[in-house]
Amino acid sequence: MLKGKTALVTGSTSGIGLGIAKALAKQGANIVLNGFGDIEGPKAQVRALGANVAYHGADMSKPSEIEEMMKFAAAQFGRVDVLVNNAGIQHVAPVEDFAPEKWDAIIAINLSSAFHASRLALPAMKAANWGRIINLASVHGLVASAQKAGYVAAKHGLVGLTKVIALETATTGVTCNAICPGWVLTPLVQQQVDAKAAANGWSNEEATRQLLGEKEPSMQFTTPEELGELAVFLCSPAANNVRGVAWNMDGGWAAQ
Ligand code: NAD
Repeated sequence: MLKGKTALVTGSTSGIGLGIAKALAKQGANIVLNGFGDIEGPKAQVRALGANVAYHGADMSKPSEIEEMMKFAAAQFGRVDVLVNNAGIQHVAPVEDFAPEKWDAIIAINLSSAFHASRLALPAMKAANWGRIINLASVHGLVASAQKAGYVAAKHGLVGLTKVIALETATTGVTCNAICPGWVLTPLVQQQVDAKAAANGWSNEEATRQLLGEKEPSMQFTTPEELGELAVFLCSPAANNVRGVAWNMDGGWAAQ
């Protein structure tokens, strides 16, 4: 379905981003990976699916590096047809103890990076009259949890940005939507399980059960593979008129 198209997924060396990159690669897209940590492993996983793959190590907190990444992607494959704004970090503390530099980093990486990558991707998408911008928000883009001021503010902002871009592209072949997962067992969430286990003297299993039980009625994690399939749907012709939605895949979290 995406043969000849190019997908750039930010924060795709791990977790959800890698899952989405692999799902888009299976549809035939060229893939531009981004993120920190092991690069060769994720590249090999995407290449094994038959996709052309490139990598750019832009730090999503730095607009100048985002600009370089977008130029790099266009130079590698012509243009970016699918932009998945996925890079994100978490920090947990009450507002009065929330380190200002953590706030700034979360807003920069989880929100402003999507603005910068989108503003740079849109001209070529509009010129081609086809494009998909998919923002990895969160159920925390729809509802709040205590101790997550930076994250909840950034994700609500990202849902707002999604709606604005959807309106500005509404008469074109470009769409913009947000995906709002509940808990997904990635390194970002395992850190929170570990913190719960350490604080309460629980096993990993007990801490996981407590974490799910607080918020997610299904008592199941959503998987990067399931989120990858949702991204594939949003890229499909069936989703041509899906615009500005914040689609939760959250085991019933936001239904409560
Ligand atoms: P993860 O920690 O597994 O992966 C995060 C990715 O972002 C990694 O590739 C990392 O290298 C990259 N990254 C971090 N800082 C970066 C920076 N400054 N520049 C470039 N890349 C950077 O996390 P994940 O759980 O896969 O999260 C992916 C996205 O999904 C995030 O936006 C997160 O908020 C969102 N999300 C996650 C969950 C969950 O339960 N895991 C739920 C809802 C939303």
